Amino acid sequence: EKAEIRTSLGQLYEVISNNSGPAVNFIRSRVERMSEPWIQAGLRMRRSSNKTVLNQMRVLLYPGALAGSVGQRFEAMVERGGPLGELVQWADLSACLTILGHNLTFSTSQQQLHSLIGAAPGRGSCPIQRPLTFDLIYTDYHGLAHLQGAMGLAFQYYQCRFRILDSFGTEPAFNLGSYAQSHGYKTLWGRWGLQPLQYMTMFPHTPDNSFLGFVSEEAARAEVREEELEPETYRKDRIAVVYGKQDYMWQGKSEYVEVISEELETHATVYQPPGHTLNLPSFIRNHGLLTQEHFLRLLHRAKVFVGLGFPYEGPAPIEAIALGCVFLQPQFNPPHSSDNNDFYKGKPTTRQISSQHPYAEEFIGKPYVWTVDMTNRTHVREAVKAILSTEVKPFTPREFTCEGMLERVHAYITHQDFCSKSVPSWPPASALRMHLGPLGQSCVSVCRRSNLVCEPALFHHLNSPSVFTRLGLGCSSMEQEVNHLFPAYSPWGRHCGLQQEPLLFSCAGSDPSHRRLCPCRAHLPGQVALCPDCI
Ligand code: UDP
Repeated sequence: EKAEIRTSLGQLYEVISNNSGPAVNFIRSRVERMSEPWIQAGLRMRRSSNKTVLNQMRVLLYPGALAGSVGQRFEAMVERGGPLGELVQWADLSACLTILGHNLTFSTSQQQLHSLIGAAPGRGSCPIQRPLTFDLIYTDYHGLAHLQGAMGLAFQYYQCRFRILDSFGTEPAFNLGSYAQSHGYKTLWGRWGLQPLQYMTMFPHTPDNSFLGFVSEEAARAEVREEELEPETYRKDRIAVVYGKQDYMWQGKSEYVEVISEELETHATVYQPPGHTLNLPSFIRNHGLLTQEHFLRLLHRAKVFVGLGFPYEGPAPIEAIALGCVFLQPQFNPPHSSDNNDFYKGKPTTRQISSQHPYAEEFIGKPYVWTVDMTNRTHVREAVKAILSTEVKPFTPREFTCEGMLERVHAYITHQDFCSKSVPSWPPASALRMHLGPLGQSCVSVCRRSNLVCEPALFHHLNSPSVFTRLGLGCSSMEQEVNHLFPAYSPWGRHCGLQQEPLLFSCAGSDPSHRRLCPCRAHLPGQVALCPDCI
């Protein structure tokens, strides 16, 4: 059966109807609010389509964070200011796959997982393996462990069909267990040994992973109004909304918030536990935790959305900017990372987080995003004044619209095949822009500096002796090594190094003694995941 674009989300409502709880309710209500934009975007895709028609995929969605005992803790926090970003992403992924015409199963139950994919009880202690009836399984790190438990030996065999929703990303050096163990990249989460592109992130963090993203709800509405080209400017009240759903996020920030409140009426949406008083400055107008719908309505009126430094890298700033707010956020100097910060500690990434929301800072920037030294009153005050004197139109990068997400996910499903043993053929070799990096730079930054993006699927084109010659590098020696920085060139002794372990091809990673060979490619405007020659 072919995957035909659907014009209704009915199938999805049916599929999630046998799950319950606050998290699934959040997902369902988000999908319902956004159904019209999804359907319209699907219709536009169908009209414009020169897209390859795919076979319908049988897809299992298993958000492990909502299952078992971890799930109980997560559920308990949904209505108390806990993280919602993952739910936003699960909602949008399910809607997207439904519109693309695939056949979904959705489960948040570990027990049900066993009946869906587990081995059948066999004679004695020897369970009978059944063939897996799903072409693709989307899950998360918690879910991986559940899958392993349920599938036993078949886990290894079928792992090429897994896709892991992993908000903050997993770099190759942490992913390969043996290497992580022997080179100091051991973490709580890494070491599953999947293809790094099987991890799907919330923002384009390291291009070693696939950027899945989500859809900005307001941008979706604007798509229906077809005003992407000339968005209207919203009438703004002189108010600021502070980004922080829980009390503790405000600790030590009152001076910063005070400077802002000298210029703007300052609102908040902090959850208030029954019987507790909140420790917020008295000039703050707190609404309590709002439903997503009401929260967005508040942002609609606001001029500024104020980051406190936490939560990191969430969806809310993208929504705020889509509603015509300016996002004001603290810079981190020195940057936060797994070396110096409790939140990132144990996360499988070496990323240096230069502000609360590096994507907003680097990919969007001024006039929509202002990154300030929050301890410097003058700096903050000047930024606020500058913001108040500029008119800013709603803005959303294409990758956070329904059309952008449909296009991206369709391309992934069409072209990413981790089960085949041959080298990747997508993006095509014609997309390759080879760069030789300076000492001490990762391929992530080498490519970005040229307005390109590192493309790990193109590394294999760089991994041969002839490439060094083509770059005019004379090698005194040529060795194969298991090293996530390779292929690379070391000027001292003119050593040329090739990569021996394809799982360690890595855009991330740098070292002062190596010049890295980097596979860069161009990308579509506002859609870093895709290149002009690859859709
Ligand atoms: N949100 C909400 N009510 C509020 C504040 C935020 O529903 O009072 C929603 C918001 O629309 C966003 C989601 O919470 O889509 C996730 O927010 P955030 O960026 O804080 O990321 P998180 O840390 O929760 O993953």
